[in-house]
Amino acid sequence: MASKRVLLKISGEMLCEAGGFGVDPTHVQDFAQQIKEGIGHGEVELAMVCGGGNFLRGAQIAGDEIGRITGDNMGMLATIMNALAIQSALERAGVETRVLSAIPVNDLAEPFIRRRALRHLEKKRVVLLAGGTGNPYFTTDTTAALRALQIRADVLAKGTKVDGVFTADPEKDPNAKFLEELTFLDVLQKRLQIMDSTAVSLCMDNSLPINVFNMKKSGNIVKFLAGEQLGTMVV
Ligand code: UDP
Repeated sequence: MASKRVLLKISGEMLCEAGGFGVDPTHVQDFAQQIKEGIGHGEVELAMVCGGGNFLRGAQIAGDEIGRITGDNMGMLATIMNALAIQSALERAGVETRVLSAIPVNDLAEPFIRRRALRHLEKKRVVLLAGGTGNPYFTTDTTAALRALQIRADVLAKGTKVDGVFTADPEKDPNAKFLEELTFLDVLQKRLQIMDSTAVSLCMDNSLPINVFNMKKSGNIVKFLAGEQLGTMVV
């Protein structure tokens, strides 16, 4: 049976305390252990895109002193730092990895070359796709959608802090109902904040399903990578 190819998108915040800054080695190590256990089942070829919001987001830092494009460039560099941290923790855990960057940093990572990414995946290496799209005005959600299409992933998985998609914010509204499945149009029309609209549109136009699941719940990463159906599917 062919393996399922997954592109997992995580936010930079997953690498530190909620609302924290930078990379917390304990969080990264814990994440790496779960990835190791999950892929140990041999069901998946795994590529990952990690955001950079634990360091900075271009739109937030942009102002008179630092322009938007510089801010975005800094944000993309932050994603490379995160990828290196995840790589280090995964390799310590005994998982073979490659970092492929959209921005050339030849001493630290390979350039993103689609065919090379595919070869690494076939060899069951975890492929860390860093540097965003390499262009300002995009996010790592959009990067994840784009890369998932380029590597022909079966699904784009978005690891979050909540169980999936709800009718309202479950942390604010006790009547919020969990949705097991919904359409791309629902997400766009109801402005559900699971991913930015560019990312969702790209997935919709190319029929790439998005699976939103709770990555913070203990054991969920392992279950997800072992093939268990979790969270919400956007189809
Ligand atoms: N970014 C960019 N182009 C890209 C991807 C990311 O300019 O293709 C910048 C942008 O400033 C963004 C920052 O990198 O805010 C960090 O990414 P993101 O906000 O998506 O990280 P996350 O919130 O997922 O941690």
